[in-house]
Amino acid sequence: MSDADQQTAGKVCSERVRYTQEFLQAIRELGALQNEQAKAVIEGDADFSRFDLLLHMANEKKDHAKYALLMHIEQHHC
Ligand SMILES: [Zn+2]
Repeated sequence: MSDADQQTAGKVCSERVRYTQEFLQAIRELGALQNEQAKAVIEGDADFSRFDLLLHMANEKKDHAKYALLMHIEQHHC
């Protein structure tokens, strides 16, 4: 029996909720870093590019979380 068979109408899929929360968390982390970098630029901090690697990593994490959620929805039909 597949996970999809266990779905009942109107019932929230706990896995989907978890993937959604992970995606939202990744978006927030990325946003926080972008704010930090913007703050550094505004404050005239010449070393504002120090955030670039962190931003790159946060972006990848967000993408992975997004694909995991999309994949789950596609395979689970929830
Ligand atoms: Zn699901």
